[in-house]
Amino acid sequence: MTKPLLLRGGRLVTMDGARRVLDGDVLIENGRIKSVGRSDSRTARRSKPTTIDCSGLIILPGLIQAHIHLCQTLFRGLADDLSLEAWLAERIWPLEAAHTKGSIHASAMLGAAELLLGGTTAILDMESVRHTDAAFEALESIGIRATAGKCLMDSSASPDSLRESTDTALQESADLCARWHGSAGGRLRYCFAPRFAPSCTGPLLRAVSDLAERAAATIHTHAAETLLELDMVKRETGHDEIAYLDSVGISGPRAALAHCVWVDTDGIARLARQATNVVHCPSSNLKLGSGVAPIPEMLAAGCRVGIGADGAPCNNRLDVFAELRLAALIQKPRLGPDVLPAAQVLELATLGGARALGLESEIGSIEVGKCADLTVLDLGGPHAQPEDADLISRIVYSARAADVRHVVVDGKIVVRDGELKTADVAEISRDANAEARRLRAKALNRL
Ligand SMILES: [Zn+2]
Repeated sequence: MTKPLLLRGGRLVTMDGARRVLDGDVLIENGRIKSVGRSDSRTARRSKPTTIDCSGLIILPGLIQAHIHLCQTLFRGLADDLSLEAWLAERIWPLEAAHTKGSIHASAMLGAAELLLGGTTAILDMESVRHTDAAFEALESIGIRATAGKCLMDSSASPDSLRESTDTALQESADLCARWHGSAGGRLRYCFAPRFAPSCTGPLLRAVSDLAERAAATIHTHAAETLLELDMVKRETGHDEIAYLDSVGISGPRAALAHCVWVDTDGIARLARQATNVVHCPSSNLKLGSGVAPIPEMLAAGCRVGIGADGAPCNNRLDVFAELRLAALIQKPRLGPDVLPAAQVLELATLGGARALGLESEIGSIEVGKCADLTVLDLGGPHAQPEDADLISRIVYSARAADVRHVVVDGKIVVRDGELKTADVAEISRDANAEARRLRAKALNRL
């Protein structure tokens, strides 16, 4: 049993059913939220909690990014200003193929450190084809909540350096799932992660759907990111991509589809009907020139939507506040300034993210009984003043990763006063730089 923890005297943005914002405390026991609001001082005294003074600070549900590639963090700045196809074929695939156990670990540590220091407490993470155990070992030690999975690539359209046989890909996924799903007290979970429809065969996708159902695990893939991808799927299968994925069982509340930029009205209706999760990645979609996902239309149709930074080489930050702000801004020239107001956008990184991870009963809001994942912000800087302005507006439009003061995951303090407590950041950077240099020499020696 860990010592209780009391966050005392903050302004709480609960994201509960009534979207209450209130002044008060959060008492945490055994990794769960025990009370919210004015704490009964006798109860608090009796449990002798570790206390963090949060007066003047904002307490949010831990923020969730539902599309991340930690294996690509070391590729930051190595793949700028390219189309998705060239970005993949010329940089990302050769770099992923060059990964070793050590570089996957270093990449995950670097990304997770950035995420935690920036207030992201939970992620849905697509790894590479190999060495996924090393990523889980990093996630276990650094203390972030993560649902992660080995990337699956078995079609003839996949590069030789990453392609596996269908059986090998599935067997290794099942083994990883048996090892990691529900580990670290439930903080780590497994997801089945076909890269995207063109890199996977139909039999693999169907088998993934069955395996995920049996293991009660999430399925995470990319979908409808570019028009070229849409054409490829149409040529191969005769279907629109969303309909094709649905036909092989990659749909429904268990599935989280990153991007969905090129989805028409029928596709949106299908996503809503099946309760499939869409993960919006606005920075990535802009940087790769993919387009602007019709998120307001999806939300109006009743789709479930989360948000994510994608990988470091297509963003190049993993800052959830940057994604929230951009998600709101990019729709306004198209549909008017009143679409996607701040309160709706904040849901993408809280309740929407929780749904995408299949964890809506556990995370995404500050409510008694839920996991104690919390992000504490200091909005006292000039860029987020005056303090009487609308609080949600200050969080979505003004806040930035550097405003994060404390972070709690599963009841444990992982960031205190802006400092990572679970790992040495200098050591992470040293390892990351050494491994990145090695990867670059091995995969991109002409650059
Ligand atoms: Zn991605």
